Amino acid sequence: MKTSIYDSIGLKRVINASGRMTVLGVSTQSDGVVKSMTQAAQSFVWMEDLYLKAGEIISSYTGGEASVVTSCASSGIVLSVAGVIARDTLADIRRLPDSTGLKNEIILPKGHVIQFGAPVTSMIRIGGGVPVEAGLANEVTQRDIEEAINEKTAALMYIKSHHSVQKGMLSIESMVTIAKKHDIPLIIDAAAEEDLTAYINLGADLVVYSGSKAFEGPTSGFVTGKKDLIGYAYAQYKGVGRPMKVGKEGIVGLLKALEEYATKDVAASVEANIEAVNTLCDALNAMDGLSARMIQDEAGREIYRAELRTDDKLKASWLEAQLIDGNPAIYCRSYRSNDGVLYLDTRSFVAGDIESVIERIKELMEG
Ligand SMILES: *Cc1c(COP(=O)(O)O)cnc(C)c1O
Repeated sequence: MKTSIYDSIGLKRVINASGRMTVLGVSTQSDGVVKSMTQAAQSFVWMEDLYLKAGEIISSYTGGEASVVTSCASSGIVLSVAGVIARDTLADIRRLPDSTGLKNEIILPKGHVIQFGAPVTSMIRIGGGVPVEAGLANEVTQRDIEEAINEKTAALMYIKSHHSVQKGMLSIESMVTIAKKHDIPLIIDAAAEEDLTAYINLGADLVVYSGSKAFEGPTSGFVTGKKDLIGYAYAQYKGVGRPMKVGKEGIVGLLKALEEYATKDVAASVEANIEAVNTLCDALNAMDGLSARMIQDEAGREIYRAELRTDDKLKASWLEAQLIDGNPAIYCRSYRSNDGVLYLDTRSFVAGDIESVIERIKELMEG
């Protein structure tokens, strides 16, 4: 049986049939990324130069005027919020998250008041912000946002994510229009998004990304956007940002991951994804009590998964639990298991995983 580093501390190897999930370690890094991280970890550098150079390189991918590297997307939100509040006034940087007397309100559509493992409002508060929810959970209009704006407003925020309510919300374009009209910065949380340039091109002032999701970097993130606001975000490392610092190896690993992402053969990886899903579906369809078909990602991204139905609806939750219980543990997407449906994502499979998954399901269905 294949082993993993986690065996050495008594933990089971995981086959990730779920996707880029934080609970499973988000993504794995390529040999190229890991090699660059090893080299960075074993040599010194003037850290301020590394941060600034990393910002320049990131901006060359995003088209932002400037960028700052962060420890993850969550800390990117914290630093962005702290930056629009304390700017580069040292005394204010030093007293955050106490923002008494400063412009500190962050307005976001109520349907974007989500949790991604932690509430977005916690990140706003750590940065000294006061979250202001505009509109209703399933309807937020331009007027709702504009009526929430006052002399204490520090920024508008928009969460571009499948976690957000998708209907009844305003578009990013409308948020940009409002932000420009009132001369207030707009922060977009695009943590899991793949498009590095779209939101800058639409006119957002700050855009926050995770380095470990779409770009398969190490635990890291970055913010890209307007030069002055990025400077303010970076300045917060002297205050609330200190517990969120990124190590040299994290920064260099992120840069390598972005470089690889820029030259990635997307067509070839989509083709490999489709082929793996087809192999899986054929094998599953040959088993009694199951049917499978290939479906595209709900959000319309170029991601394909196997949709697995158990003839007996009640059996899906049982199958899911058994797959997790085995060794290696197999995690699939289970949010519809109550309807008798599981989804298998093949993008994170390593050699041999498809066979292991098929074999284990067969064993369970025949047992
Ligand atoms: C994952 C996610 C985050 C947090 O990203 P981390 O890099 O894990 O901090 C923030 N916002 C959204 C919408 C996310 O999906």
